[in-house]
Amino acid sequence: MKRIFIAGFQHESNTFSPYPTTIKSYEAYEVARGREIIDHYEGTRNELGGYIDVFRNSGDEIVPSVFAKACPAGPLTKESFDYFKDIIITDYKNAGHIDGIMLALHGAMLTEETEDGEGLLLRELRRVTGPDLPIVVTLDFHANITEDMVELSTALITSRYYPHTDFYERGVEGAELLLSVLSGKVRPTAAFKRIPLIYPHMPTDEGPLARLIPMLIDEDAINVSFIAGFARADITIMGSCIYALTDNDREKAGALCRKYYDDVMDHITEYRMQLTDPEEAIRTAMESEGLTVIADASDNPGSGAMGDATDIIHELIRMKVKDAVVISVWDPEVAKQAFEAGPGSTIGISLGGKSGNMVGKPVMAEAYVKAVTDGVYTIKGPMFKNITMHMGLTAVLCFSGITVVVVTNREQPFDEEALRSNGIEPLDHKIIALKSAVHYRAAWKKIADRMFTVDMPNITSIDELKVNFKKIPHPIYPFDEVTKE
Ligand SMILES: [Zn+2]
Repeated sequence: MKRIFIAGFQHESNTFSPYPTTIKSYEAYEVARGREIIDHYEGTRNELGGYIDVFRNSGDEIVPSVFAKACPAGPLTKESFDYFKDIIITDYKNAGHIDGIMLALHGAMLTEETEDGEGLLLRELRRVTGPDLPIVVTLDFHANITEDMVELSTALITSRYYPHTDFYERGVEGAELLLSVLSGKVRPTAAFKRIPLIYPHMPTDEGPLARLIPMLIDEDAINVSFIAGFARADITIMGSCIYALTDNDREKAGALCRKYYDDVMDHITEYRMQLTDPEEAIRTAMESEGLTVIADASDNPGSGAMGDATDIIHELIRMKVKDAVVISVWDPEVAKQAFEAGPGSTIGISLGGKSGNMVGKPVMAEAYVKAVTDGVYTIKGPMFKNITMHMGLTAVLCFSGITVVVVTNREQPFDEEALRSNGIEPLDHKIIALKSAVHYRAAWKKIADRMFTVDMPNITSIDELKVNFKKIPHPIYPFDEVTKE
């Protein structure tokens, strides 16, 4: 029986966000210690659910440390990075003999001090584990890969799809790979090659990756991945890459990276997304039968936006839409105001538009308080299935013919349970306007008759060319013309 140390420390850091990520940001989202990791994630469809299933089946011992995750926002304070890093290192030192480590990371963590939070964590961990202990890392599709991450890990296993519906499968893949390494069956050898590309908010079941991803299979390779990078980080290491892992064959790993790098570069102009004008999306919805989902992708808390932008609400009111639901507006003050007044009352609100100068004006209205809830729901859709979400104190407000869900914690609505748990049946409405870029598609596509992604002014505009980058490497597509090396 092997002893497997498990830890997770995740963040997708957006340098355009004015809000630093603190220990409190983690506590508001998820900090599971020791046994709580098993209690919270056994039976769920994330990477930890995958690890747990593999080691339960193999009969190996899980030594759980910490799993900490915060909603995307600005880079971590030094204090918050050190706090969780120290827990992992101290737990490892106190764990006794350990045969291998599984780390659930993201790949886009920034701190006040480094552009490569994961590389720094691995470097600090290697100080205590030494260079030879197997460390398998699972990552998000939106990881900015660095030399340190590749060299200091035994293997990086990255989510392949967007929406990331395969976290569980990648957790299983990573954990099974660790067991193969421990039994001496394989010696993972990695290479990666950067691609001068800002990957757009484009789902992988359409566009160029729908063709490329099924090709990323090679019988001599352990894993070949297209890794998108996280493009709302204005840093020198931002960008996409191909990563390849072979069994002790460095040359082959390099050749695979080159092969698929060439493929992306040969089709580079396909890596650009068509966006719908908000007015056109709303008009089409009003003139069509059935349910239309409109994603205000520029205010997606899942990319680091604050989620309090109001332009989509102003547009719905201006166009006199009478049957729309907006989920959500992050405004803890208004949620509290509704709670204090209580369901059935009418309150004067100044809603949203408070986090900066690019999120629209607050909505001034006399709003009817339809409901106030605890904001807790469990995801039933394919992404993060069975995981419980916490929107915090949540108010359902009605004004000008539209219904708005006002939340205390920032998060994108992964699933229509975010509405049903607040007493709103999505199929009873004509338009659902939600704050998400791509992940919403995993669950919402089965009930929507049509879906539009729209771009509004915000710090996380999904039109790359509207983002005010200063530090990213050039040349890079779509800003520059790029050619193969
Ligand atoms: Zn992602």
